[in-house]
Amino acid sequence: MATRFCCRREQAARFVSWGEAQVPARCLGADQDFKLKMVMLSRLRVILQASPCRALWRRFQIPRSMSARPCSLYTCTYKTRNRDLHPLWESADLVPAGERQSPINIRWRDSVYDPGLKPLTISYDPTTCLHVWNNGYSFLVEFEDSTDKSVIEGGPLEHNYRLKQFHFHWGAIDAWGSEHTVDSKCYPAELHLVHWNAVKFENFEDAAQEENGLAVIGVFLKLGKHHKEVQKLVDTLPSIKHKDTLVEFGSFDPSCLMPTCPDYWTYSGSLTTPPLSESVTWIIKKQPIEVAHDQLEQFRTLLFTSKGETEKRMVDNFRPLQPLMNRTVRSSFHHDYVLNMQAKPKPSTSQVTS
Ligand SMILES: [Zn+2]
Repeated sequence: MATRFCCRREQAARFVSWGEAQVPARCLGADQDFKLKMVMLSRLRVILQASPCRALWRRFQIPRSMSARPCSLYTCTYKTRNRDLHPLWESADLVPAGERQSPINIRWRDSVYDPGLKPLTISYDPTTCLHVWNNGYSFLVEFEDSTDKSVIEGGPLEHNYRLKQFHFHWGAIDAWGSEHTVDSKCYPAELHLVHWNAVKFENFEDAAQEENGLAVIGVFLKLGKHHKEVQKLVDTLPSIKHKDTLVEFGSFDPSCLMPTCPDYWTYSGSLTTPPLSESVTWIIKKQPIEVAHDQLEQFRTLLFTSKGETEKRMVDNFRPLQPLMNRTVRSSFHHDYVLNMQAKPKPSTSQVTS
């Protein structure tokens, strides 16, 4: 909590310097035209603040030079956060008015065990795998989704959801990279398997904009043993180093990227890239999978940029944490924390006095 406060204080300080139109006195003296603009800006602010149009006022407050990644991930990114604005975020509303944005920090103790949550059933057909491509923000493995060949069901979901694609988010170094965090712990990377509700919607694009349209499985990656199946992906990366490059990818079953433990958290949230639609039922697996450091290093050889452009390494492609607001994170499992407390035997009188 303390780190979050620190971040907000810094953000607030940056806002005040713009929104309150505070500029050094020497600037005002040197440039009367600039001073006039600042006065007009200040008056406009007062009008907007007094009007019922609070949403407009909030937009007025957005400092346009603000990084897409303010330091709301203080523990992860404060020291070396990327201040460059990725083109993906340039036209985005960086302060969404929504109340169910993602990613979030999952507080283990605040999540609520829901015995009604069924096990998640995953059924992927490896032949539906199409290709892997660099979209300029991550690398995506896409699937044929015109029929119900690769679907998930159960868990918190009312319908079958078809697999559309999977991709990863990762950091510049192993100390951070995941979008979600657990008790403020960052993982070096996070896998997202994106599915859409083909019962309620005609296509992925429509589903992505509506409530209950998408279901995304999130899997944390932690450092450990070399992952044989991840290596199949890593082997394709030299072919898609630049933005908008694509290579065919043969038969692949992404269930091999799932942890063995069935436990998960679930909550209602949003896309973590523009348009940030609040259409996602998130299913975050509790157990991470292991990958080797050199495999993550291969992720970092990709580029955000196209051929011929100044090269920018594809790293830190995650969105900062968003406030939980009025949401509950449900778990499919009893809290280990509580169980551990209960399992601890109380010392008997004889043990205390011996
Ligand atoms: Zn993602």
